[in-house]
Amino acid sequence: GPEIFRPLRANARGFDLAHTPTLTEIEKARAPFADATWTATPLIVGGSKGGAAQAVQNPTGATSLGTVHPATPADVAQALDAATPWAAPLEERRKALLRAADIYEERFGEIFALLTREAGKGLPDCVAELREGVDFLRYYSAQATNMPPAGVFTCISPWNFPFAIFMGQISAALAAGNAVLAKPAEQTPLIAHMAVKLLHEAGVPVSALQLLPGGGDIGAALTSDSRIKGVAFTGSTGTAQRIRTAMADHCDPGTPLIAETGGLNAMIVDSTALPEQAVQAIVESAFQSAGQRCSALRCLYVQEDIADSIRHMLIGAMQALEMGDPWQLSTDVGPVIDETARKGIADHIAIAREEGRLIAELPTPAEGTYIAPTILKISGIADLEREIFGPVLHMATFKAGELDRVIDAINATGYGLTFGLHTRIDDRVQHVSERITAGNIYINRNQIGAIVGSQPFGGEGLSGTGPKAGGPNYLPRFSAPDLADISA
Ligand code: GLU
Repeated sequence: GPEIFRPLRANARGFDLAHTPTLTEIEKARAPFADATWTATPLIVGGSKGGAAQAVQNPTGATSLGTVHPATPADVAQALDAATPWAAPLEERRKALLRAADIYEERFGEIFALLTREAGKGLPDCVAELREGVDFLRYYSAQATNMPPAGVFTCISPWNFPFAIFMGQISAALAAGNAVLAKPAEQTPLIAHMAVKLLHEAGVPVSALQLLPGGGDIGAALTSDSRIKGVAFTGSTGTAQRIRTAMADHCDPGTPLIAETGGLNAMIVDSTALPEQAVQAIVESAFQSAGQRCSALRCLYVQEDIADSIRHMLIGAMQALEMGDPWQLSTDVGPVIDETARKGIADHIAIAREEGRLIAELPTPAEGTYIAPTILKISGIADLEREIFGPVLHMATFKAGELDRVIDAINATGYGLTFGLHTRIDDRVQHVSERITAGNIYINRNQIGAIVGSQPFGGEGLSGTGPKAGGPNYLPRFSAPDLADISA
């Protein structure tokens, strides 16, 4: 009969941050980790101490939070030799993944502390990230069937969602029965180490899940070996292209690369939009998580007639944002991830300032890798040469009658991740949604924070390969190709 898609699980409960007793409970749970230090090592069959210790930086420039011993080339060889697809019966695999989800929810205090101290995330982001990570575990384990595993899967994850995206990749690969070699972002090895330790405790064998912290050299080694039967990657478009080249040289021709990459995400606000709603959505989309989401709004197009009033309201809303230490509950915008990131964004703003295109900015804290929320004027999205991964909003205007030209310009970037539209004209919603090239289109709301199971997330073109994470088509890509289908 016809297949009916039913949600397979409920999303994680999360925390109500407007409820004072809940906040007190969170404060109590994370307090023991305010000055804690952690150590990350490779977690591989046979064990390893890893290479020479490196300090892990706190983006606020505050206390040190630990050390990482990156994987060595010998560790990679050892892990590749030992990697064994997870042969346990489906029910047992499912149970281990569900157990891990429960353990993470119980250990929220340490996870929030790590997300804040290692990745600079404020509490609302910590809550959302824990929820998304456990949602992925439950969603993919509920979907898992006795599908044949692909074999050994490499998972390379980004620092901007060091728990959620890390967990999304490896939980899908594990739910399909693969052996996983996980390389977390260089900036965030500690939370990855904790997450993998807990997955092992929950019953995932080390031979099915090995952790190899390190930099680009480790990533390169893990994507250029014929034993790798699939790669899941989230990060920059350029790195995805290098991975594809490495895989083309070393892996079987059919080896899947599931890549989720950058975006030059736009929003169009027309003169029928509800201004308060649009302004709130703009501020959230551009500045939440300090703009360090690949879904974040980079280029805002406002219809000329209302541009002055939207700009005015936007500056007001922006001035209400508090910047500073993400551990403080009052903070809205924390630091960017590191000094390299800070400098790249600051240079971009400096050029715009010289050219007289600065519309507004907040004051920047003196210490730490902060970039104050900033609005820059541009004539159109074609002015943006690259994705600026921080709290910088570019604003352009358009005239009535120019809508199709704006859509063409947005599509011409080649990226296609998120897109936002604010309008009260129904036909326009239809028209724009049909013409715009974007994986996730959001109408009359913000354009960040896709929810596992109900808003599968992913882009097209330069933004990624698909299938979308947290949607029904993701998990099958982690299984062996259907041979019956190939020979038919
Ligand atoms: N899924 C996230 C969102 O919807 C973005 C993921 C990313 O930044 O890589 O905001």
